Parts: sequence; C-alpha cells; structure tokens
Amino acid sequence: MRGEVTSHGVSLLAKLQPVRGTHDLLPEDSRRHAHVSGHARDIAARYGYGEISTPIFEFTEVFQRTLGDTSDIVTKEMYTFADRGGSSLTLRPENTAGVARALISGGLSQNLPLKFFYNGPMFRYERPQKGRLRQFHQIGAELLGVPEPLGDIEIITLGAHVLNDIGVLGKTTLELNSLGDAESRAAYRDALVGYLSGHVDALSEESRERLTRNPLRILDSKNDSDRAVIKNAPRLEDSLNEPSRAFFSTVCEGLDRLGIAFTHNTHLVRGLDYYCHTAFEFTTTELGAQGAVLAGGRYDGLVEVMGGPATPGVGWAAGLERLAMLADAPPDAPRPVAVIPIGDDAQTVALEVTNQLRRAGFTVDLGFRGNLSKRMKKANQARAVAAVIIGEDEIERGAATVRDLESGDQQEVPFNSLAGALGVYKHASEAQS
Ligand code: ATP
Ligand code: MG
Repeated sequence: MRGEVTSHGVSLLAKLQPVRGTHDLLPEDSRRHAHVSGHARDIAARYGYGEISTPIFEFTEVFQRTLGDTSDIVTKEMYTFADRGGSSLTLRPENTAGVARALISGGLSQNLPLKFFYNGPMFRYERPQKGRLRQFHQIGAELLGVPEPLGDIEIITLGAHVLNDIGVLGKTTLELNSLGDAESRAAYRDALVGYLSGHVDALSEESRERLTRNPLRILDSKNDSDRAVIKNAPRLEDSLNEPSRAFFSTVCEGLDRLGIAFTHNTHLVRGLDYYCHTAFEFTTTELGAQGAVLAGGRYDGLVEVMGGPATPGVGWAAGLERLAMLADAPPDAPRPVAVIPIGDDAQTVALEVTNQLRRAGFTVDLGFRGNLSKRMKKANQARAVAAVIIGEDEIERGAATVRDLESGDQQEVPFNSLAGALGVYKHASEAQS
C-alpha cells in the first residue's frame, strides 16, 4: 500500500499519481473519444451491428484458452488476480473472447448470424508510451455465423467506413493477407518449421522457443537477426490450397469493387490455430512506433476452442486513443448562455431563469460568485453567446437585461419570455450530438 495513514485516517501521499499507463479523460478528451466512438456506433448500426457490452473481467480461462499460452498478451500483459472467493479473474485485454463467451453462455448461437459492435476499456500490462497504455479503449465489430468471404468484405468495409468518416482513412494503408484454411495452415506450418530448423543458430532465443509451440509468430518478430532469416522463409501464399485461394480472391475482388485500396502483406499473420483466411490491419506512419490502428481477421475456430458450437467469426478492433489522435476535431461544443445574477435576491430568480432555459434546450452557465465584471469575464472565457443579467432593477421590472456578447447590444426581456427572445442563440447553444 502506498503512502501513510495518519491517526486521522488521512493518507499522506506526497504525490498522488494515477497508475502508470492510465489516463484521466477530461471533458475535452472525452469529447474527442465520443466523437470517434459515436460515429463508429452510428455507422455500425447502419450495417445492422448492435452494441454489446460484456463485463470488463472474465474468468482467466476465457483469455488463456482463446489467446493461447504462448501469446504476448497471456504471457506478459494480463492483469490477473484472485478475487475474494478464490476465483482467478482477468481484466479483459481484448473483447473478442468476451463476445464469444457471451455467445456460448447466453445460448445466442440459435440466432445466427449475429452482428455486434462494442466500445470500452481494455487492460494490458505494457510499456506505456504515446498511443500505448495499460488501460486503453477499443471499439470493435464482430460478425458471427457467416463462413462466406462476403462476411470478411463486410467487416473490412465497415472498418474502412468508420475510418473514413472520422478523417483517418487517408492516413492509413490497409494490409491484407490470407492464412488459408486449416489444411493450408498445417502445410505452411510444416514448411516453415522445416526451413527455420535449418537456421536455428541465427534465431533469437524467443523465436527458438516459438519454433515448436507457435512457429507462425516468428514471422512477427522485430529482432534483426530473426528478420534476416524470415526474409527468405517460405511464403504462406505458396501453401494455400485451391479453396483458400478462391476465398482470398473473392475478398480481394470485393474490396476492389468497393474501391477499398489494400496491399498484400504476406508476412501479416496471426499465430493461433483458430485464425484462418483473412488477416488485415490498417496501419499509419503518423503515430511513431504505434502503427496499428485497426486490426482484425477471421477466427472460425474460436468459439469451438472455447467449448461452444462451431461458429465462424470475423471481426476487428481499433484503439480509440490512436484513432482520437488521428481523427478530425469534434464539432465545437455548444456555446452557453451566461446567466448573471447580481445580489442575493437575484440568485433565486437566476436559478428559475436558468432552469427554464435549460429545459428549453439551451446550454446555460450560471455564475455562482463574483462581481459583474468578473462574471462577464468568465462568460467571455466560456465563449458565451449572450449574458442574461439579473440585478435589483431587473427584478423590480420583471425583466432581464440580455446582452449579445458579440455585438454588445442590450435589450430588456421579461423573465417569462426569455426562451423565445433568446431563440436566435438557440442553435449555438444547443447540445450537438
Ligand atoms: P500493437 O502491435 O500496437 O501492440 P496489437 O497487435 O497488440 O497492437 P490488437 O490486439 O490487434 O493490437 O488490438 C487492436 C488495436 O488496439 C490496435 O491496432 C491498437 O490500435 C489498439 N491497441 C492495442 N494495444 C494497445 C495499447 N496498449 N494502448 C493503446 N491502444 C492499443
Ligand atoms: Mg500488442
């Protein structure tokens, strides 16, 4: 436990810090996030994807089984703890496993296909840096129960559509690959292990370990010596059987027809056996080392691996923090009307006036203290469109002084007609969605 607790029960933390790799989202940040996730949710809805929210923790097994014992996430990045009842729980590092668990435990596979959108915090113990956090947020989409390549096309199109509408698509490239079906993968695995076994001495220790447990992951290695070996490795493409090639061609042709540009990256892989066919990633060069913006693929074996009925799936996830850094700025926040009471009697009237205007749809700032000039300064800082000034004179006359803060023009408006008279400011002051 950090800090000391005094006899008064007060914690004496010299510097109370957030946990490394976590961020407070202040209102401005939240607006940027909501701009991105709101667009994504709306677009997903147009494709028929309804929002799902699964718990932020699951039994550890849910992730261990689906992400595989050798993945970086499981070996190094999970927040795993025993709860007070002794169950091993893990804060979700991603949401596909949770969605698959929900499908199984909720018996949802009676109604396939299912289309889900999600948005929420994920947790990974990583080295924090720009665009890489320990609590971050993802939006994502999952399509379950569609084995045809049309599903892959739809899911990629949805991703591109979201990126486009927030102004990010033009800053990314779409990389695409095919892992083929189970037979093709097995053939490739053999070819790869055969090749790499002849170069064991040049491989990093980590890759040597992966050679037996998860050889495809070696293709992902950033190690220079590994990269030199990988350069001449057999290509996944050459191991694809006919049906796998046809599947991939259909996906590529579909994207072509829809005008979605992509490059074929033969090194783009997913290590786990339940992944198949399409793997894709929208990457950017604008965020330094954190190039992955939106990534996904087909996972036909996942639900079965978890003990559910065999259910094909394809989906993607995108980091909200990375998207928010790249996205167009959200529309300006609504400009408030400032209600400025002067004197004690005016406070009560101001409360009533404020209440009336807020109910009529205006964004209203009610000054709590200070003299007129201080309050006017605050109103200007808040970019208020107009000030509604209520002092003793005004109370006597039953009318407020309304000052246009752009022109400085003033007019007298009876308290009960304020909402109507302020109509010209309605648009600027209305909460935008
Ligand atoms: P990376 O190569 O950057 O570690 P990843 O392959 O681990 O990414 P995925 O598991 O595919 O990422 O997650 C999908 C998206 O979530 C990524 O493309 C990225 O935008 C985002 N993301 C992943 N990890 C983090 C993190 N620690 N902080 C912020 N965003 C993240
Ligand atoms: Mg990662």
